[in-house]
Amino acid sequence: MPLTETSPHHHFELVSGLEIHVQLNTNTKIFSSDSASFGSLPNQNISTVSLALPGALPKLNKEVVAKAIRIGLALNCKINQVNHFDRKNYFYADLPKGYQITQDNQPICVNGFLEVELSDGSLKKIGINRIHLEEDAGKSIHDQDAQYSFVDLNRAGVPLIEIVTEPDIRSAEEASALLSEIRKLVRHLDVSDGNMEEGSLRCDANISIRERGTTAFGIRCEVKNLNSMRNVRRAMEFEFGRQVEVIANGGEIIQSTLNFDADKGTTSPMRTKEEANDYRYFSDPDLQPVYISDEWLAEIKSAMPALPAEISRLMIEEFGISKADAALFAEDLNLLKYFNEALPAVRLKKNLINWLIGPIRAALNEKGISIDNYKIKPEQLAAALNLVDDKKINQQIAIQQLLPAVEEHENADVSALAADLNLLISGDGNEIEGFVDEVLNKYPQQVEAYKKGKKGVLGLFVGDVMKLAKGKADAKKINELILEKLK
Ligand code: ADP
Ligand code: MG
Repeated sequence: MPLTETSPHHHFELVSGLEIHVQLNTNTKIFSSDSASFGSLPNQNISTVSLALPGALPKLNKEVVAKAIRIGLALNCKINQVNHFDRKNYFYADLPKGYQITQDNQPICVNGFLEVELSDGSLKKIGINRIHLEEDAGKSIHDQDAQYSFVDLNRAGVPLIEIVTEPDIRSAEEASALLSEIRKLVRHLDVSDGNMEEGSLRCDANISIRERGTTAFGIRCEVKNLNSMRNVRRAMEFEFGRQVEVIANGGEIIQSTLNFDADKGTTSPMRTKEEANDYRYFSDPDLQPVYISDEWLAEIKSAMPALPAEISRLMIEEFGISKADAALFAEDLNLLKYFNEALPAVRLKKNLINWLIGPIRAALNEKGISIDNYKIKPEQLAAALNLVDDKKINQQIAIQQLLPAVEEHENADVSALAADLNLLISGDGNEIEGFVDEVLNKYPQQVEAYKKGKKGVLGLFVGDVMKLAKGKADAKKINELILEKLK
């Protein structure tokens, strides 16, 4: 296909595969009982293993394996029930052993896929080549002293999984949809906090281009350490443009590792790509192969929560709510748990949903707390909803006055509290009838208009009666009374 001078970009498509590093949220490191927590003072979470003192031996953290299996199952992978660890040898100050323990040719999970939704509503299936377990390195600090660099080994040995996709990604949008889906999943499965800013989720993007309509892959460059969704997009767009320029000008792409400069939005060479044999991978003799029994695998499978896509589908099917509303439950397991706890006791199920995603969510946001810190217990909320259903309290009054009061009175009996606060609809039909008369007398012209067919004024009457009743009346009942009087 000949290139036109004006727009070579249209002749090419982007091809990309991501390597996504996810820091697992276990209490301790992958091969020692050192704390894996973030934010400690430098070199606090280190023992002989993290320091790589001679004779110190690694011991695998079972929880790390369980978490990797969970994410592997969510990504539709085959779990390799026998897998093993390898040494990747290289020298750096923040790697005191001189090698990183990782998995090379027998990773824990292989051959999966993930379907992501794009902005036009279409679904894109992206293959997962493998997921392997490895340890993180320490941190070198170069900006604290003019002469010396410092090393903090707290991070050395913190567990990581690396999720490697097939080169199925064709746009920056697909890459960010995939990343955000993976972030959602790792949080949902309690595998990682998925925080890109703090480095719990880091991504390298392998990028090549090829002429549209062709199937062979081009030479790729790998952009390292993209630490935000936005930078992934920017790096891809820049790198695509750069490679198109190179080819359009008759040059060729050299396989290399690139840095992304977030200030300038550009990529630049870091080093030419080392061959795998530069790392002299070999099986780690200090660690036994990992055997995952059928029983343990079955146990992990049965303890898996429903995945967000499944939860969304069920919520839409069962309660007829919108996709966006369903997503709120699918992406917040605490909200879902609260909902499920309240649900059996509530008759107006749809109202429960509306309250949770409407006024209650707003109130929680305002206080800056999440639903698991909400003072109102699910059964108390159910009681409040049922008072509305029983026409014992007006919905607005329940939301605006009763709920805040329940928050103030932990463990209160909701019905008794509503009665104490005088919020219940008064059983006194005479009083309401009196208000109806009062309002109809106040608006003789509108009453005339109504009788001539202008039915819209009814809302005005009902609203005014409700005001006089201070909200403690059932709107439907008022309606009926007014219609009766206007006959
Ligand atoms: P390596 O062993 O050198 O790391 P892999 O085959 O494991 O290479 O691939 C690493 C990543 O690069 C994967 O995410 C893969 O999808 C991606 N990738 C491989 N070939 C290409 C290509 N031609 N263009 C873009 N990405 C590619
Ligand atoms: Mg690789």
